[in-house]
Amino acid sequence: MIAVKDVIVVVLVKMRQARSDEVHLSAFTENLVQCDKASIDKQQRRKRSTSAGVVVESCNLSKTIALTFDDGPSDYTPELLDTLKLNGIHAIFFINWENWKPRVDVDEILKRMLREGHTIGSHAYSHVDLTQLDVEGIRAQLTKLHSEVKRATGNDIKYFRPPYGNVNDNVIAVCKDLGYQIVLWSIDVEDYKYAEAGGDMSAPIAEFKKALADSSKGYIALQHDTYKSVVENLIPAVINMANQT
Ligand SMILES: [Zn+2]
Repeated sequence: MIAVKDVIVVVLVKMRQARSDEVHLSAFTENLVQCDKASIDKQQRRKRSTSAGVVVESCNLSKTIALTFDDGPSDYTPELLDTLKLNGIHAIFFINWENWKPRVDVDEILKRMLREGHTIGSHAYSHVDLTQLDVEGIRAQLTKLHSEVKRATGNDIKYFRPPYGNVNDNVIAVCKDLGYQIVLWSIDVEDYKYAEAGGDMSAPIAEFKKALADSSKGYIALQHDTYKSVVENLIPAVINMANQT
């Protein structure tokens, strides 16, 4: 297995309309401004000589936090979509198919995500560690999820976040073959840990506060829309902080 930092990550980021001195939340979408293209290219050239991968882990667009949500959709996703819509924020959802069994209509949630300007990415069909599978197994995990999204929405997937952040040369090769860009993250406030420990989001909120204070950087933030406290406490607090910065 290669280190997370050796993964190819190409990030497309759009700045939300905002004053230039304001920290703002942003979106990944397919037809947007590429995040600091010159910087990405520079990193690609540097890494190519030492590994199979190309690395860009974070957005180099300062004052930007891209919100990404893994493991859903869940019963809490519709409420999250309401919050994002209310605040004019777009996110990318890295979804599974067999991981969670929401009572809500998944097909309808996926259609709604696209309708409201979000992006759907793949997080594999059943949230397995792909580095434990052979090439055909990896391909099946990605193509099965892709087929479900295509069936439900008519759209193709272009972005992939590996379960557990684990990748190896086979995962990269399959992603290249399928035309997927691998997207990791630069902020992980471990929302799942606090959500499972009772839902007190003070510590994750404080982590975001630190990030927002350093507005010279851009970030890709990892969250999970599978927890009520993330949807109801963490994300509204982050949006409030960003709006006040
Ligand atoms: Zn996951």
